[in-house]
Amino acid sequence: MSNELSAKGERVLLQQARERFVAAFGSAPTAAACAPGRVNLIGEHIDYCEGFVLPVALPFVTVVVGALNNTGECNVISILGSGEELKASFLAPTASSPLKPGTPAWANYVKGVVANFPGGVSGFDAVIVTDVPIGSGLSSSASIEVAIFTLLEGLTGKTVGLVEKAKLCQKAEHEFPGMPCGIMDQYIVTMGKKDHALLIDCRSLESQHIPMELGDLAVLVTNTNVKHQLTGSEYPTRRAQCQEAADRLGLPSLRGATIADLEKLKQQNCSEDVLKRAKHVIEEIYRTEEVGRVMKEKNFQRVGELFYQSHDSLSQLMEVSCPELDQVVDILRGAPGVYGARMTGGGFGGCVVALVEKNEVENLKKRVLSSYKGTPTFFVSQPSEGAKLLKL
Ligand code: ADP
Ligand code: MG
Repeated sequence: MSNELSAKGERVLLQQARERFVAAFGSAPTAAACAPGRVNLIGEHIDYCEGFVLPVALPFVTVVVGALNNTGECNVISILGSGEELKASFLAPTASSPLKPGTPAWANYVKGVVANFPGGVSGFDAVIVTDVPIGSGLSSSASIEVAIFTLLEGLTGKTVGLVEKAKLCQKAEHEFPGMPCGIMDQYIVTMGKKDHALLIDCRSLESQHIPMELGDLAVLVTNTNVKHQLTGSEYPTRRAQCQEAADRLGLPSLRGATIADLEKLKQQNCSEDVLKRAKHVIEEIYRTEEVGRVMKEKNFQRVGELFYQSHDSLSQLMEVSCPELDQVVDILRGAPGVYGARMTGGGFGGCVVALVEKNEVENLKKRVLSSYKGTPTFFVSQPSEGAKLLKL
């Protein structure tokens, strides 16, 4: 297996989806859409605390083609990067029989969007093709949700504003797969812009495109290719611990909290875990705002320092890293040409994002390959566009 992950491009995926659609459903699709994956540069585990996040959209995309079928049934085929095919059929929701989550589990990501699409949808057929790595912290889940939503816009002619679209897709993920995610993934997947990161204020839901004029630098992403299946409750637990800290401080979220508030929490005898989570969130919010500022000033040295601080905090205070992520960050730490590195995404596996000198990329890959115990894959992340309809 090559350790180089390269995007196939939306035209290639579109062609594959269209051919499979014709073979499966006997006619041509009438609409097509795509939505990217994303990598978060900094601001981890703070979107659900109404903090700031700084993601970029990736060149990896989920493409979906479809047509209304007037049968009241939704028939969906998903072709994964490995070539494996998944299939699901369910009845389109009606006033008397709304959709409910069920099996197969993956179809909940589609059903949730169908259930939340404004004005409802009658039956449709669709084929999904993706090259977004699935379950690697690059947000294949928001990618499939926003791609389906955009397809439904194309099929029905009904559209909503971009922030509203992101919120409806987030609601879909909450209600159907049952994942209480923050707004970051759906937001950047909806609103990404080429050559820009997006500083999102998860409280006001306003955002600012930050130009990424990296010059001789590049964003190198290393996928550890591990995903630890813990109990599945880690994410909701972290969320609940952060909310407990906010409740104890009489705040709606930790966004309004300051370092001084940590002392108040200590005095209330709250658990060591809650205190650590709160410290991470408060400091990570400061770090993310600062990266937004210094990125514009092209102070990449400082961006890198903040990356390392973020990683150490996620590992020691939020406790969402794992030995593989820590190992990759440690291999990169101090290596020639590396400004900073950190885990990215929800944690317990997935990817490390690093700011590095372009001409050191190959050496750094070799370094990771020779020391890292697993089988990593790499890509250099080019900030790309958000979701859109595609011409057939
Ligand atoms: P991430 O979003 O980081 O990739 P998640 O655990 O949030 O990881 O989402 C991964 C899940 O989303 C998969 O297990 C699968 O159920 C679903 N999923 C994502 N993309 C697809 C796809 N193209 N086809 C089918 N299911 C998908
Ligand atoms: Mg996800």
